[in-house]
Amino acid sequence: MREALEELQRKAAGEAASAKSIEEFLAIRTRYLGRKGLLTDALRRLKDVPPEERPALGKLSNDIKESISKQLDQALEDIQSREKYDALNEEGIDVTLPGRTRRYGKLHPVTQVDNEICTIFSSLGFSIVRGPEVELDYYNFEALNIPKDHPARDMHDTFYVEDTIVLRTHTSPVQIRTMEKQRPPVRILSPGKVYRPDSDISHTPMFHQVEGLLVDKGVTFGDLKGVLTYFLQEVFGKDTKLRFRPSFFPFTEPSAEVDIQCVMCGGSGCRVCGQSGWIEILGSGMVDPEVFKVVGYDPEEISGFAFGLGVERIAMLKYGISDIRLFFENDRRFLEQF
Ligand SMILES: [Zn+2]
Repeated sequence: MREALEELQRKAAGEAASAKSIEEFLAIRTRYLGRKGLLTDALRRLKDVPPEERPALGKLSNDIKESISKQLDQALEDIQSREKYDALNEEGIDVTLPGRTRRYGKLHPVTQVDNEICTIFSSLGFSIVRGPEVELDYYNFEALNIPKDHPARDMHDTFYVEDTIVLRTHTSPVQIRTMEKQRPPVRILSPGKVYRPDSDISHTPMFHQVEGLLVDKGVTFGDLKGVLTYFLQEVFGKDTKLRFRPSFFPFTEPSAEVDIQCVMCGGSGCRVCGQSGWIEILGSGMVDPEVFKVVGYDPEEISGFAFGLGVERIAMLKYGISDIRLFFENDRRFLEQF
Protein backbone atom coordinates (compact mmCIF):
# COMPACT_ATOMS: atom_id res chain seq x y z
CA MET A 1 0.00 0.00 0.00
CA ARG A 2 2.73 2.41 1.00
CA GLU A 3 4.71 1.64 -2.18
CA ALA A 4 1.60 1.96 -4.29
CA LEU A 5 0.92 5.44 -2.86
CA GLU A 6 4.50 6.60 -3.38
CA GLU A 7 4.47 5.28 -6.93
CA LEU A 8 1.27 7.25 -7.51
CA GLN A 9 2.92 10.41 -6.28
CA ARG A 10 5.93 9.94 -8.60
CA LYS A 11 3.77 9.31 -11.64
CA ALA A 12 1.52 12.30 -10.88
CA ALA A 13 4.53 14.58 -10.47
CA GLY A 14 6.00 13.36 -13.79
CA GLU A 15 2.75 13.83 -15.70
CA ALA A 16 2.04 17.22 -14.19
CA ALA A 17 5.46 18.45 -15.24
CA SER A 18 4.96 17.29 -18.83
CA ALA A 19 1.43 18.72 -19.32
CA LYS A 20 1.51 21.03 -22.33
CA SER A 21 -1.95 22.54 -22.38
CA ILE A 22 -4.83 23.36 -20.10
CA GLU A 23 -6.73 20.39 -21.56
CA GLU A 24 -3.92 17.98 -20.71
CA PHE A 25 -3.67 19.46 -17.25
CA LEU A 26 -7.38 19.00 -16.57
CA ALA A 27 -7.18 15.36 -17.70
CA ILE A 28 -4.30 14.69 -15.32
CA ARG A 29 -6.08 16.31 -12.42
CA THR A 30 -9.19 14.23 -13.04
CA ARG A 31 -7.11 11.09 -13.39
CA TYR A 32 -5.53 11.50 -9.95
CA LEU A 33 -7.77 13.72 -7.86
CA GLY A 34 -11.17 13.20 -9.49
CA ARG A 35 -14.02 11.45 -7.75
CA LYS A 36 -13.07 8.20 -9.49
CA GLY A 37 -9.39 9.17 -9.65
CA LEU A 38 -6.41 6.97 -8.76
CA LEU A 39 -5.67 8.67 -5.45
CA THR A 40 -9.30 8.68 -4.38
CA ASP A 41 -9.42 5.04 -5.20
CA ALA A 42 -6.31 4.36 -3.08
CA LEU A 43 -7.81 6.25 -0.15
CA ARG A 44 -10.93 4.16 -0.42
CA ARG A 45 -8.83 1.01 -0.06
CA LEU A 46 -7.51 2.19 3.33
CA LYS A 47 -10.40 0.40 4.98
CA ASP A 48 -8.91 -2.93 3.88
CA VAL A 49 -5.67 -2.20 5.75
CA PRO A 50 -5.10 -3.68 9.22
CA PRO A 51 -6.35 -1.16 11.82
CA GLU A 52 -2.93 -0.58 13.39
CA GLU A 53 -1.46 0.58 10.06
CA ARG A 54 -4.31 2.89 9.20
CA PRO A 55 -3.23 6.07 11.04
CA ALA A 56 0.22 6.13 9.45
CA LEU A 57 -1.07 5.29 5.97
CA GLY A 58 -3.91 7.79 6.37
CA LYS A 59 -1.47 10.56 7.14
CA LEU A 60 0.76 9.52 4.22
CA SER A 61 -2.22 9.52 1.87
CA ASN A 62 -3.20 13.01 2.91
CA ASP A 63 0.37 14.27 2.55
CA ILE A 64 0.57 12.77 -0.93
CA LYS A 65 -2.76 14.25 -1.92
CA GLU A 66 -1.61 17.65 -0.78
CA SER A 67 1.70 17.30 -2.56
CA ILE A 68 0.03 16.25 -5.83
CA SER A 69 -2.35 19.24 -5.54
CA LYS A 70 0.58 21.56 -5.11
CA GLN A 71 2.42 20.11 -8.09
CA LEU A 72 -0.69 20.41 -10.22
CA ASP A 73 -1.14 24.05 -9.16
CA GLN A 74 2.45 24.74 -10.13
CA ALA A 75 1.95 22.97 -13.45
CA LEU A 76 -1.14 25.08 -14.19
CA GLU A 77 0.76 28.25 -13.49
CA ASP A 78 3.55 27.16 -15.85
CA ILE A 79 1.11 26.29 -18.62
CA GLN A 80 -0.69 29.63 -18.34
CA SER A 81 2.44 31.72 -18.46
CA ARG A 82 3.76 29.64 -21.37
CA GLU A 83 0.52 30.16 -23.30
CA LYS A 84 0.64 33.91 -22.68
CA TYR A 85 4.24 34.01 -23.89
CA ASP A 86 3.36 32.00 -27.03
CA ALA A 87 0.40 34.28 -27.79
CA LEU A 88 2.60 37.37 -27.55
CA ASN A 89 5.21 35.72 -29.74
CA GLU A 90 2.62 34.91 -32.37
CA GLU A 91 1.47 38.54 -32.51
CA GLY A 92 5.02 39.40 -33.46
CA ILE A 93 5.45 42.24 -31.01
CA ASP A 94 9.07 43.09 -30.45
CA VAL A 95 9.07 45.54 -27.57
CA THR A 96 12.73 46.38 -28.20
CA LEU A 97 11.97 47.95 -31.61
CA PRO A 98 12.00 51.76 -31.70
CA GLY A 99 8.52 53.35 -31.89
CA ARG A 100 7.06 54.69 -35.12
CA THR A 101 7.04 58.46 -35.48
CA ARG A 102 3.55 59.77 -35.85
CA ARG A 103 3.18 62.16 -38.80
CA TYR A 104 1.14 65.22 -38.02
CA GLY A 105 -0.94 66.92 -40.69
CA LYS A 106 -0.25 70.56 -41.49
CA LEU A 107 -2.02 73.32 -43.31
CA HIS A 108 -0.88 73.81 -46.90
CA PRO A 109 1.48 76.81 -47.25
CA VAL A 110 -1.06 78.59 -49.46
CA THR A 111 -3.74 78.07 -46.80
CA GLN A 112 -1.34 79.38 -44.15
CA VAL A 113 -0.69 82.57 -46.11
CA ASP A 114 -4.38 82.89 -46.95
CA ASN A 115 -5.22 82.65 -43.23
CA GLU A 116 -2.54 85.21 -42.37
CA ILE A 117 -3.94 87.70 -44.90
CA CYS A 118 -7.48 87.20 -43.60
CA THR A 119 -6.30 87.70 -40.00
CA ILE A 120 -4.56 91.00 -40.84
CA PHE A 121 -7.62 92.43 -42.61
CA SER A 122 -9.99 91.11 -39.94
CA SER A 123 -7.99 93.13 -37.43
CA LEU A 124 -8.72 96.20 -39.59
CA GLY A 125 -12.46 95.50 -39.44
CA PHE A 126 -12.88 93.76 -42.81
CA SER A 127 -15.37 90.88 -42.88
CA ILE A 128 -14.55 87.74 -44.82
CA VAL A 129 -17.04 87.05 -47.62
CA ARG A 130 -17.02 84.18 -50.11
CA GLY A 131 -18.76 83.73 -53.44
CA PRO A 132 -19.36 81.07 -56.10
CA GLU A 133 -16.48 79.76 -58.23
CA VAL A 134 -18.85 79.02 -61.12
CA GLU A 135 -20.01 82.53 -61.91
CA LEU A 136 -22.26 84.40 -64.29
CA ASP A 137 -20.48 86.34 -67.03
CA TYR A 138 -22.44 89.31 -65.71
CA TYR A 139 -20.76 89.32 -62.28
CA ASN A 140 -17.33 88.26 -63.54
CA PHE A 141 -17.18 90.87 -66.33
CA GLU A 142 -20.11 93.11 -67.22
CA ALA A 143 -20.97 94.49 -63.80
CA LEU A 144 -17.26 95.24 -63.35
CA ASN A 145 -17.28 97.53 -66.34
CA ILE A 146 -15.92 94.89 -68.73
CA PRO A 147 -18.54 94.56 -71.52
CA LYS A 148 -18.43 91.83 -74.17
CA ASP A 149 -16.12 93.60 -76.64
CA HIS A 150 -13.87 95.18 -74.02
CA PRO A 151 -10.16 94.62 -74.67
CA ALA A 152 -9.63 93.85 -70.97
CA ARG A 153 -11.29 90.48 -71.60
CA ASP A 154 -8.12 89.49 -73.44
CA MET A 155 -6.18 89.87 -70.18
CA HIS A 156 -8.49 87.27 -68.69
CA ASP A 157 -8.30 84.06 -70.68
CA THR A 158 -11.44 82.38 -69.48
CA PHE A 159 -12.88 78.91 -68.95
CA TYR A 160 -16.45 79.08 -70.24
CA VAL A 161 -18.99 76.62 -68.84
CA GLU A 162 -21.73 77.99 -71.10
CA ASP A 163 -22.13 81.23 -73.06
CA THR A 164 -23.12 83.17 -69.97
CA ILE A 165 -21.43 81.06 -67.28
CA VAL A 166 -17.70 81.04 -66.54
CA LEU A 167 -15.25 79.78 -63.95
CA ARG A 168 -14.53 83.08 -62.27
CA THR A 169 -11.24 84.65 -63.38
CA HIS A 170 -10.94 86.77 -60.24
CA THR A 171 -12.68 87.18 -56.88
CA SER A 172 -13.96 90.66 -57.85
CA PRO A 173 -17.52 89.39 -58.61
CA VAL A 174 -17.96 89.06 -54.84
CA GLN A 175 -17.71 92.89 -54.63
CA ILE A 176 -20.75 93.24 -56.86
CA ARG A 177 -22.72 90.51 -55.10
CA THR A 178 -22.03 92.15 -51.74
CA MET A 179 -22.86 95.72 -52.81
CA GLU A 180 -26.12 94.51 -54.42
CA LYS A 181 -27.25 93.24 -51.02
CA GLN A 182 -25.78 95.82 -48.67
CA ARG A 183 -25.81 99.61 -48.38
CA PRO A 184 -22.54 101.43 -47.58
CA PRO A 185 -20.37 101.34 -45.55
CA VAL A 186 -18.84 98.14 -46.93
CA ARG A 187 -15.58 96.64 -45.74
CA ILE A 188 -15.01 93.12 -47.05
CA LEU A 189 -12.22 90.73 -47.91
CA SER A 190 -13.00 87.94 -50.33
CA PRO A 191 -10.55 85.04 -50.56
CA GLY A 192 -11.00 82.08 -52.89
CA LYS A 193 -10.03 80.01 -55.91
CA VAL A 194 -9.98 81.54 -59.39
CA TYR A 195 -9.38 79.99 -62.81
CA ARG A 196 -7.51 80.94 -65.96
CA PRO A 197 -6.20 78.61 -68.69
CA ASP A 198 -2.51 79.29 -68.07
CA SER A 199 0.29 76.99 -66.96
CA ASP A 200 3.98 77.79 -66.58
CA ILE A 201 6.54 78.59 -63.90
CA SER A 202 4.43 81.45 -62.52
CA HIS A 203 0.88 80.41 -63.57
CA THR A 204 -1.42 77.51 -62.76
CA PRO A 205 -4.96 77.03 -64.16
CA MET A 206 -6.32 77.39 -60.64
CA PHE A 207 -4.87 79.76 -58.08
CA HIS A 208 -5.97 81.70 -55.03
CA GLN A 209 -6.85 85.35 -54.91
CA VAL A 210 -7.84 87.77 -52.22
CA GLU A 211 -9.96 90.75 -53.11
CA GLY A 212 -10.62 93.66 -50.78
CA LEU A 213 -13.23 96.41 -50.97
CA LEU A 214 -13.82 99.40 -48.75
CA VAL A 215 -16.68 101.82 -49.46
CA ASP A 216 -17.78 104.70 -47.28
CA LYS A 217 -18.25 108.45 -47.28
CA GLY A 218 -15.01 110.31 -47.99
CA VAL A 219 -12.69 107.38 -48.71
CA THR A 220 -9.55 108.63 -50.47
CA PHE A 221 -6.49 107.30 -52.24
CA GLY A 222 -4.62 108.10 -49.01
CA ASP A 223 -6.77 105.50 -47.21
CA LEU A 224 -5.88 102.96 -49.90
CA LYS A 225 -2.18 103.65 -49.47
CA GLY A 226 -2.40 103.50 -45.70
CA VAL A 227 -4.27 100.20 -45.58
CA LEU A 228 -2.08 98.47 -48.18
CA THR A 229 1.15 99.76 -46.62
CA TYR A 230 0.07 98.44 -43.22
CA PHE A 231 -0.90 95.09 -44.75
CA LEU A 232 2.30 94.55 -46.75
CA GLN A 233 4.52 95.56 -43.86
CA GLU A 234 2.67 93.09 -41.63
CA VAL A 235 3.38 90.31 -44.14
CA PHE A 236 6.91 91.18 -45.25
CA GLY A 237 8.30 93.14 -42.30
CA LYS A 238 7.98 96.63 -40.86
CA ASP A 239 10.85 98.05 -42.94
CA THR A 240 9.47 96.91 -46.30
CA LYS A 241 9.42 99.80 -48.79
CA LEU A 242 6.46 100.20 -51.15
CA ARG A 243 6.00 101.88 -54.52
CA PHE A 244 2.68 102.79 -56.14
CA ARG A 245 2.73 102.86 -59.97
CA PRO A 246 -0.13 104.19 -62.13
CA SER A 247 -1.90 101.36 -63.93
CA PHE A 248 -5.20 100.47 -65.55
CA PHE A 249 -8.08 98.24 -64.49
CA PRO A 250 -11.60 98.56 -65.97
CA PHE A 251 -13.25 98.64 -62.53
CA THR A 252 -11.01 101.20 -60.80
CA GLU A 253 -10.08 104.78 -61.62
CA PRO A 254 -7.40 105.85 -60.86
CA SER A 255 -5.63 102.51 -60.61
CA ALA A 256 -2.26 101.64 -59.17
CA GLU A 257 -0.01 98.63 -59.11
CA VAL A 258 1.89 98.19 -55.89
CA ASP A 259 5.50 97.01 -55.75
CA ILE A 260 7.51 96.05 -52.71
CA GLN A 261 11.24 96.28 -52.44
CA CYS A 262 12.66 92.93 -53.59
CA VAL A 263 12.61 90.51 -50.66
CA MET A 264 15.44 88.47 -52.21
CA CYS A 265 18.07 91.17 -52.79
CA GLY A 266 16.76 93.96 -50.58
CA GLY A 267 16.59 96.31 -53.60
CA SER A 268 20.05 95.94 -55.06
CA GLY A 269 18.82 93.94 -58.06
CA CYS A 270 18.70 90.19 -58.68
CA ARG A 271 17.26 87.56 -61.00
CA VAL A 272 13.91 87.44 -59.13
CA CYS A 273 13.24 91.17 -59.50
CA GLY A 274 14.79 91.37 -62.97
CA GLN A 275 17.56 93.59 -61.57
CA SER A 276 15.01 96.34 -60.83
CA GLY A 277 15.04 95.95 -57.03
CA TRP A 278 11.19 95.98 -57.02
CA ILE A 279 8.57 93.25 -57.17
CA GLU A 280 4.99 93.72 -58.30
CA ILE A 281 2.71 92.45 -55.57
CA LEU A 282 -0.87 93.65 -56.07
CA GLY A 283 -3.31 95.70 -58.11
CA SER A 284 -5.51 98.38 -56.61
CA GLY A 285 -7.46 101.54 -57.27
CA MET A 286 -10.42 103.75 -56.43
CA VAL A 287 -13.69 102.03 -57.41
CA ASP A 288 -14.88 103.30 -60.80
CA PRO A 289 -18.14 105.31 -60.53
CA GLU A 290 -19.59 103.09 -63.29
CA VAL A 291 -19.34 100.10 -60.94
CA PHE A 292 -21.16 102.00 -58.17
CA LYS A 293 -23.95 102.91 -60.60
CA VAL A 294 -24.45 99.22 -61.52
CA VAL A 295 -25.23 98.36 -57.88
CA GLY A 296 -27.28 101.47 -57.22
CA TYR A 297 -24.75 103.38 -55.11
CA ASP A 298 -24.48 107.14 -55.66
CA PRO A 299 -20.85 107.95 -56.64
CA GLU A 300 -21.50 111.60 -55.61
CA GLU A 301 -22.13 110.46 -52.04
CA ILE A 302 -19.63 107.71 -51.44
CA SER A 303 -16.26 106.53 -52.66
CA GLY A 304 -14.13 103.48 -52.10
CA PHE A 305 -11.07 101.49 -53.01
CA ALA A 306 -10.47 97.92 -54.07
CA PHE A 307 -7.43 95.72 -54.39
CA GLY A 308 -6.62 92.18 -55.45
CA LEU A 309 -3.64 89.94 -55.00
CA GLY A 310 -2.51 86.39 -55.70
CA VAL A 311 -1.99 84.30 -52.58
CA GLU A 312 0.54 81.94 -54.24
CA ARG A 313 2.60 84.95 -55.31
CA ILE A 314 2.78 86.22 -51.74
CA ALA A 315 3.67 82.72 -50.49
CA MET A 316 6.40 82.37 -53.16
CA LEU A 317 8.02 85.65 -52.13
CA LYS A 318 7.60 84.99 -48.43
CA TYR A 319 9.21 81.54 -48.61
CA GLY A 320 11.56 82.06 -51.57
CA ILE A 321 9.83 79.53 -53.88
CA SER A 322 10.68 79.87 -57.56
CA ASP A 323 8.06 77.65 -59.24
CA ILE A 324 4.33 78.07 -58.46
CA ARG A 325 3.60 74.51 -59.62
CA LEU A 326 5.37 73.11 -56.54
CA PHE A 327 2.31 74.14 -54.49
CA PHE A 328 0.08 71.71 -56.36
CA GLU A 329 2.26 68.65 -56.86
CA ASN A 330 1.53 67.34 -53.34
CA ASP A 331 5.14 66.32 -52.82
CA ARG A 332 5.38 65.79 -49.08
CA ARG A 333 9.09 66.63 -49.02
CA PHE A 334 8.14 70.11 -50.22
CA LEU A 335 5.02 70.56 -48.10
CA GLU A 336 6.68 69.41 -44.87
CA GLN A 337 8.99 72.41 -44.94
CA PHE A 338 6.24 74.79 -43.91
ZN1 LIG B 1 15.86 91.30 -56.25
